[in-house]
Amino acid sequence: MKSAHNNNIFLVTNNLGDFTSSLEKKIHNFNHASSSFDLFQRNMGSLGKRKQDKYIFTNDLIIIDKEFYDTSITKSMKQEFLERLKIEYPHFLFIVKTKKDKRNLNLDYYEDDFHYYVSEEEKKTKILNINDLFLDLVFKCMVNRRSVHYYIVNSFENIIESVIISNQKKKIESVYRDLEATSKIDVLTNVLNRRAFFEAMELEKKRTERAHNRLSETPEIKIGVGIVTKFYGRFCCVMIDIDNFKRINDSYGHINGDKVLKALGRLFNSHSLFRDDDIIGRYGGEEFVIILPETNIEYAKIPAERFRRAVKAIEFESDKGTFSISVSIGISEYQRNDKNCEDIIKRADEALLAAKAGGKDRIICYQDIS
Ligand code: GH3
Ligand code: MG
Ligand code: MG
Repeated sequence: MKSAHNNNIFLVTNNLGDFTSSLEKKIHNFNHASSSFDLFQRNMGSLGKRKQDKYIFTNDLIIIDKEFYDTSITKSMKQEFLERLKIEYPHFLFIVKTKKDKRNLNLDYYEDDFHYYVSEEEKKTKILNINDLFLDLVFKCMVNRRSVHYYIVNSFENIIESVIISNQKKKIESVYRDLEATSKIDVLTNVLNRRAFFEAMELEKKRTERAHNRLSETPEIKIGVGIVTKFYGRFCCVMIDIDNFKRINDSYGHINGDKVLKALGRLFNSHSLFRDDDIIGRYGGEEFVIILPETNIEYAKIPAERFRRAVKAIEFESDKGTFSISVSIGISEYQRNDKNCEDIIKRADEALLAAKAGGKDRIICYQDIS
């Protein structure tokens, strides 16, 4: 026997289908719902077996539809709770459908039981909002009894608490989701940050490896293999570095330098130069890296060249006059024996260095220098 108080809420009712399912979701100490008294007893039996010798349930609230209510059931129920399920002092809240004068109802109930009167009409409208129903239940009980029983206060607090907790949880989850989404994106340029880029590149590498394995294991695919493997089982890596960016910063100021980076970000995200499934990341300060899935080196040159020209065409305004920039680009292609993503990036970087050494503002492919 471990705990004395659980303050569970049990519900035995027939016509509150929606209400019951929202309760199950929202109320953490809501334990049980049944649509008939027999079912309720059976379920309570298994609950009792499960929890026996672990808890003493006390002061649990049992909400019961009047249609399941009669004196003998109530008595046997109390017996059941006490002897078999070890639930002590259960409180009963009877939902009574009536048009009669409430005080004239001859119900046999214990001091600690409460009655809530609800007309069919009310029942239909109130189940739409479980919080309203509960507030109503609690306040009507208070008024009817002209006293506030501690249990009502307890259950009321529990209910409010669980609603607050569930709202807070929702808020935290949504903040967390936003955070997760934004933490993948570089704030200045709106492309993937370095970490997210590597995660995406790793997936692409694995996908390409699987494609390779399929090609070698499936003879049928080898029909027309020349065409298929022009794209299938391939991908390219494009490294881009802004030329003389330090000079741009020095001449026009860091703010204008940032504007250049933002403009490149807009170009990357414009959907006009690269495909939607290309993976674009900010690799470092003024360096970007792009993975072009299912693309061989010849086809990779096309968007790279489009980008090089588009960048050159931009006229940047500053208080020291207009200026334009250029980029150097290195391209490498995935090789079967590449162990990790860095191998592919390293070759693109070497090609980029060659582009810089060759006079900048140009594209060099690794295969042309190796
Ligand atoms: P190269 O043509 O050889 O690439 O010359 P570079 O001047 O572009 O290369 P370097 O690596 O010497 O300089 C890169 C500069 O990029 C230095 C740094 O101040 C600048 N930079 C890096 N990140 C940012 C940024 O977020 N904003 C701005 N404004 N500048 C940045
Ligand atoms: Mg650089
Ligand atoms: Mg540079």
